[in-house]
Amino acid sequence: MNKIRTSSLAIVAALSVALLSGCEPPSLSGLLSSESNGQPAGEGTQSTTVEPNNEATVRPQRASLAETIKDVDGVPTVTNATDLSVVVNKQRALPGDYIPPDLVEPNVPFPFDEKVEKRLLRAEAAQALEELFAKAKTEGIELYAVSGYRSYKTQKSLYETYVKTQGAEHAAAYSAVPGKSEHQTGLAMDVSGYDANTRLEESFAETPEGIWLAANCADFGFVIRYLKGKEDTTGYAYEPWHLRYVGKEMAKEIMAGGLTLEDYFSEAAIAHK
Ligand SMILES: [Zn+2]
Repeated sequence: MNKIRTSSLAIVAALSVALLSGCEPPSLSGLLSSESNGQPAGEGTQSTTVEPNNEATVRPQRASLAETIKDVDGVPTVTNATDLSVVVNKQRALPGDYIPPDLVEPNVPFPFDEKVEKRLLRAEAAQALEELFAKAKTEGIELYAVSGYRSYKTQKSLYETYVKTQGAEHAAAYSAVPGKSEHQTGLAMDVSGYDANTRLEESFAETPEGIWLAANCADFGFVIRYLKGKEDTTGYAYEPWHLRYVGKEMAKEIMAGGLTLEDYFSEAAIAHK
């Protein structure tokens, strides 16, 4: 009895973590896979020579969180959606119609074959991910890109499916509201490894791939976005698999300081600059 109960709880806990993250819950991967990016299955372009689109990319600036938010129809909405430093969380939505200007597919291994939107990242982040994965490979570390860009439309479907199957209360507690998933920025990629069987679980942090990723991601402009012990600040559980691109300089400062993006852009942090 106890054993059954424990394993049920473990399943619920695992599912909750995946949902809390706004990352792709395993149970709904079919739904996401069916979302086409307007490309027929089996086709699509591999981008190995991605040039950053400097016109579309606004360089990071150290404006405080209060300076980059405005009320849009009652929803606190970010004013700097295209910035590489944009902070999106449960209090800060992207504009509902926001689609990143320069989405491309990085040439890295994915644990699925479908040509779907979750392969995509913004150009500069995609190039950095290719470089990160290439460096990992030279050190015997096998990484997989599990889930990147997710459109407002996909997140909406996901959320509505949860409301339908689990109830509104459960959906509100465990799934990201459309517009508030960092995956919509095109700057986030969930990464896993061979040893973790490409699953997105907290135990990834203890695998050779997870350890390597945390130690090296900043050199390529990525941070581990949702840190252990920072749940109250980020609003999300620890996610050792969720990489966020911010650029090398900022990533190194954030990772070296054990900071969250919210910490980095707080009034206090900026006052001390
Ligand atoms: Zn994620």
